[in-house]
Amino acid sequence: MGPIVLLGVPGAGKGTQAKRLAQRYRIPHLSTGDIFREMAHSGSELGARLWTDMRQGNLVPDELVCAVVAERLAKDDCRHGYILDGFPRTVPQAEWLARFLAQPPSQGPLIVIYLTVGYNDLYRRLLGRRSCPKCGRIYNEFTQPPRQAGLCDLDQTPLVQRKDDEAAVIRERLSAYEQQTLPLVEFFRGRGRLLELSGAEPVDRVSERIFAALEANRLAAAADDPPREAEAGQS
Ligand code: AMP
Repeated sequence: MGPIVLLGVPGAGKGTQAKRLAQRYRIPHLSTGDIFREMAHSGSELGARLWTDMRQGNLVPDELVCAVVAERLAKDDCRHGYILDGFPRTVPQAEWLARFLAQPPSQGPLIVIYLTVGYNDLYRRLLGRRSCPKCGRIYNEFTQPPRQAGLCDLDQTPLVQRKDDEAAVIRERLSAYEQQTLPLVEFFRGRGRLLELSGAEPVDRVSERIFAALEANRLAAAADDPPREAEAGQS
């Protein structure tokens, strides 16, 4: 399995699906949002600056994002593939990734999974999102509630809401997505392996579709299907 990018609007279910993919293929799940949240809570000066951007729903500067990703991808556990969740999020970040993947050693073709969800669903998803601070499992108060209200099913830890999942910040994040991230759909479509799937269905159904699409893609690549062979890292 080559590197996988999960692309989609905030609330499309990238984090949930990335965790499932990581488990299935035993490859690391790299969420730039999680990395920055950890840095923001570290108490460092850089962390405080990051938090200012994140708290307002703005994107973190490209240069810093790429430096953080480069450091993470250099680790040993990324040698056999990885899942990028929330990266790239701008055209310069995608161009950086393309250059990175073009360098030896070959990491296999990049696959981009684009999860689509109608805007009407998103507010409900984001406002209802809760996560377990201990194990990272994600819930939704409306669509995927825990068995016991407010507590993680796995370890009974009280669930938390992200500070940037508030209505005013959500608006800013969706606007950043439309302006800076949405152009990546065409960027990747034009370069090959964009797998577009609806993220609006129940979580298990979306996972099944992703696994099936990846398998179909793997078989097509093995059969050397020319139209699907172009790598996102090329051109
Ligand atoms: P996420 O958890 O992916 O929704 O990310 C939370 C926040 O972290 C975003 O709203 C941005 O402020 C920041 N962030 C995460 N990934 C990136 C990225 N690739 N580029 C710029 N900012 C990012």
